[in-house]
Amino acid sequence: MAPISADDRFRAIVFSGPSGTGKSTLIKRLFAAHPDLFGFSVSHATRKPRPGEVDGTHYHFVSVEKFEAMIADNAFLEHAKFGGNYYGSSKQAVQDVAEGRGKDINGGTAEGKRICIFDIEMEGVKQLKRSSLNPRICFIQPPSLEILEQRLRGRGDTDEASVQKRLAQAKNEIEYCKSEGKNDKVIINDDLDRTFRELDEWVMKDISKTTPT
Ligand code: ADP
Ligand code: 5GP
Repeated sequence: MAPISADDRFRAIVFSGPSGTGKSTLIKRLFAAHPDLFGFSVSHATRKPRPGEVDGTHYHFVSVEKFEAMIADNAFLEHAKFGGNYYGSSKQAVQDVAEGRGKDINGGTAEGKRICIFDIEMEGVKQLKRSSLNPRICFIQPPSLEILEQRLRGRGDTDEASVQKRLAQAKNEIEYCKSEGKNDKVIINDDLDRTFRELDEWVMKDISKTTPT
């Protein structure tokens, strides 16, 4: 497999921030707004699928044994444990997007070379910052921890123990963004339409600068 390197025209974009802050919602909108531009880095995860999640589109759902075998094979660009489960971005997933075999997060395929979009937590961000990928990084932050809790519970698909783990980790994610976000984009997801406009403007401004017309 060819080494993954930074290519300005197709520079990857990483979205990070506490679980429940609205990353998936915003990424789905971004894909819908620009159907031919992005491919999703479909992560591997050892947690159970939630209702509506499709294996191979939102995640590759795998066993702990399979995930650990992939770590041993050096198959991941980055990986981390979150809330007691493994999550990782495989080199293959990123290569698939670069070579036109990627996925659209709203279903379907992403044909042709696309800009790779990641949705990952902070340990993965640290690893990608040290990699040759040189991604643009956007932290999505909640207006407050109280609102984050409402959103996590309101989604209705996460059990109480998982909600508690996510809220505990949210504080670390918010602190990390304050210390590391200096050179990255930080967006507060308050009103969804307003937030999407800010995010879309930031994403597209750089793309129009770097993508040949
Ligand atoms: P994440 O991917 O960061 O875990 P989600 O996209 O699943 O978060 O969003 C968590 C919940 O919050 C979902 O029910 C979603 O519909 C809701 N949500 C997202 N953004 C907003 C917003 N700006 N205002 C109110 N609810 C929101
Ligand atoms: P969830 O279980 O809510 O889908 O995801 C939990 C957390 O794992 C989220 O913060 C999400 O961004 C993160 N995550 C999803 N995929 C990956 C991945 O491939 N690598 C890392 N490091 N984090 C991931």
